[in-house]
Amino acid sequence: MSQKQLLVILGATGSIGLSTLDVVSRNKELFDVFVLAAGQNAKKMAELCIEHEPLYAIMATQQAAEQLSAYLANTPCQTLVMHGEQAMCDLCAHPDVDVVMSAIVGAAGLLPTLSAVEAGKKVLLANKESLVMSGQLFIDKVKQHKATLLPIDSEHNAIFQCLPSSLQNAKGDQNLQQHGVSKILLTGSGGPFLTRDINTLKDVTVSEAVAHPNWSMGQKISVDSATMMNKGLEFIEAKWLFNCDTSDIDVVIHPQSIIHSMVQYHDGSILAQMGNPDMRTPIAHALAYPERINAGVKPLNFSDICDFSFTKPDFSRYPNLQLAIDACSAGQGATTTVNAANEIAVSAFLNGKIGFTDIYKINAQTLEAATYTNVQSLDEILECDKLARISASEFIIKVAH
Ligand code: NAD
Ligand code: MG
Repeated sequence: MSQKQLLVILGATGSIGLSTLDVVSRNKELFDVFVLAAGQNAKKMAELCIEHEPLYAIMATQQAAEQLSAYLANTPCQTLVMHGEQAMCDLCAHPDVDVVMSAIVGAAGLLPTLSAVEAGKKVLLANKESLVMSGQLFIDKVKQHKATLLPIDSEHNAIFQCLPSSLQNAKGDQNLQQHGVSKILLTGSGGPFLTRDINTLKDVTVSEAVAHPNWSMGQKISVDSATMMNKGLEFIEAKWLFNCDTSDIDVVIHPQSIIHSMVQYHDGSILAQMGNPDMRTPIAHALAYPERINAGVKPLNFSDICDFSFTKPDFSRYPNLQLAIDACSAGQGATTTVNAANEIAVSAFLNGKIGFTDIYKINAQTLEAATYTNVQSLDEILECDKLARISASEFIIKVAH
């Protein structure tokens, strides 16, 4: 890498955004922060602007942008404050930008991420929801605009690292079987309720659900990890990133989160990527690819590992995982619907409106009631997403306590 790469970080105040800034700070000779974007947390954004001095900071709303301007008013920080989705889209496509970290949570990440793809940028994809909701359209745009798409999700980053370089450089039209790959083994820890009595899952509290045993993450993905909807979304994400069929992917429970996923080859070899569970590893990998940089992550110490185990997922414990795998087979309308329903249901759970096991009920009922037909264009995707949110909200009113 000869000159500094200019970065946009979408979702800068979140867990992935902060980990990205940590890696960038360790490699200042390689990267410069050009844009930071986030939702509502103006106070955190002000701290980040003072520390990283981006040229632009974008908040989701005018109110949050005004708060940010007020925080920065009496500081030497020169960052220009903007707001709204259009500003995020415009700056992702700015000609000076090299790399866009897509780490907004949920469907709100779709349009800025697509804008980066359409501008042919190097896109580091953490925001799995955008790929789940728009699969084929997203991948077609990557090909059409010659964007570079690198996975940040630890599992997909691990799979990517275990693939031959000819497959790493293909854009959504890889043929895994022709390159000797027989299976993708997508690992998941099983979350905090791997061994909890199934009959008590209905009583799970918010603080129990967001307390992941191995990873520190945002609230939505933490709940998704507890229901294993996260693994379901990752299953769909893997299908699109690696151009494979549902029969090419197996989910393996690995409670220690040391192996981050594996690729099985026809000759019997299985390649695994390992490391301590710290998102700075996949972030650093993608930022520097194909080179390697310091991520600040402690190396794995094998003498500290007491247990190293693997089991099959129990779908009666994780019905959301089955729902997402079935949606993956059913097609785009189903995956857009289940993603939207799940965002609404998880938000209702986090706000204390529904119970933990109601998340599955809302997701299943919304899918069951959905009447989508052809979901291909961006307008059709956004309409399908909107209708699923309305439908899920209606089911929530019926079960809300
Ligand atoms: P988080 O909740 O910690 O952060 C979310 C970020 O998105 C925040 O900066 C928030 O301000 C921003 N945001 C929310 N709504 C916005 C909007 N409308 N416009 C602009 N910004 C908005 O979440 P996270 O854990 O960092 O996860 C971010 C994404 O990365 C998710 O899609 C998640 O699935 C994915 N991911 C996270 C992890 C992890 O370890 N945290 C791992 C793999 C994938
Ligand atoms: Mg993951």
